[in-house]
Amino acid sequence: MENFVVSARKYRPTTFDTVVGQSSITTTLKNAISSHHIAQAYLFCGPRGVGKTTVARIFAKTINCENPGENLVPCDECESCKAFNHHRSTNIHELDAASNNSVDNIRSLIDQVRIPPQVGKYSVYL
Ligand SMILES: [Zn+2]
Repeated sequence: MENFVVSARKYRPTTFDTVVGQSSITTTLKNAISSHHIAQAYLFCGPRGVGKTTVARIFAKTINCENPGENLVPCDECESCKAFNHHRSTNIHELDAASNNSVDNIRSLIDQVRIPPQVGKYSVYL
């Protein structure tokens, strides 16, 4: 039981190319990254299970990776990737927006986003 990982986590794709059935989204995001035209915010809509969080996590990891290479695959070796994999990244914040939606939550979020990233290029809130 020590190594138990929820299947949604265990089988969550970790690269754009392993996401199934959302090629229009993954291609658009990959093009945005390779042409250095990254928007300030992205809004993913859809019912649960279609891959909103998955794609957002891959995107966050890729734009902060130090050497994503030509195929935009996070290297898993740089400091940013390692931190992300161990859930200790100081740049990528994952918050449960479905429950943290009060005025006070948003106030604290506004305070946090003023702080520029300490390592890496982007500060990302999912
Ligand atoms: Zn990396």
